[in-house]
Amino acid sequence: MDQIRIKGLEIFARHGVYEEEKKLGQRFLADAVLYTDTRRAGKSDDLEASTDYGAVCRRLEEVLTENSFNLIESAAEHAAQELLLSFPRIERLTLELHKPQAPIPLPFSDVSVRIERGWHTAYVALGSNMGDRDGWLELGRKGLEGHPACRDVKMASLYASVPYGGVEQEDFVNSALSLRTLLSPYELLDVLQGLEQEAGRERLVHWGPRTLDLDLLFYDDLVLDDPRLRVPHPDMENRDFVLLPLCELAPAYRHPLTHKTVRQMLEELRARGEGQVTGRNGSDF
Ligand code: AMP
Repeated sequence: MDQIRIKGLEIFARHGVYEEEKKLGQRFLADAVLYTDTRRAGKSDDLEASTDYGAVCRRLEEVLTENSFNLIESAAEHAAQELLLSFPRIERLTLELHKPQAPIPLPFSDVSVRIERGWHTAYVALGSNMGDRDGWLELGRKGLEGHPACRDVKMASLYASVPYGGVEQEDFVNSALSLRTLLSPYELLDVLQGLEQEAGRERLVHWGPRTLDLDLLFYDDLVLDDPRLRVPHPDMENRDFVLLPLCELAPAYRHPLTHKTVRQMLEELRARGEGQVTGRNGSDF
């Protein structure tokens, strides 16, 4: 991807563990590489179509002088997030924050922290089979829409489905949503679990009734095999109540392990004559 590069931006700020550093301040230097498509701006020669690097420098200065962090790691983390939120054309960036006057009692020329942050695409499955089921799904959608590190939240239709897993219980309402997020996969999982808690969910019976179930289906093309977080979500190829709404949002998205598209997984499931879905948006299927 195209890049806009900023090198050696000087900022006087007050980051450091020692009181003296907070009181007196010192010189910091920032280097940034902004990954963004410059083609439209290049063709039109219009600043409006690009990311104004002067404005980026001013925002960086603002963020680094408005706050006083102990660690340059925190200063860089905070600044990277603010730049990504303030300039929507930046897809990802690397930010290096130098502290050449750091309190190190030995001769040295520089110390710095360099991080890379950016927007990720995630797909989430939603399900509810207790109480105001549509309302719980709406709580999930709104929770992600209102999260400062999430944007472009899109939700598929609502599907009715009969329970999966053999526990006697009410029918489900299911859907899926896509979003762009600055959160890491684990941070996103924490947000999803926080929303489940907000919906008053208690984990009583495995595969039992739930007010709100939120599962992370895909996170870019990440593959993660940790019991706390398995991505892609296992068993999705056997669940039409996951694949049907997901197919509305991302029919051509490829499973990073099987390389099958969402549409292909759904067609294969239907060819096997399996499925739990009985209706869409209140009508029979
Ligand atoms: P569930 O009953 O589906 O809500 O299962 C929740 C448990 O599955 C939690 O302990 C999560 O840490 C774990 N888990 C593993 N992978 C995922 C995933 N992709 N999305 C949501 N929860 C997951």
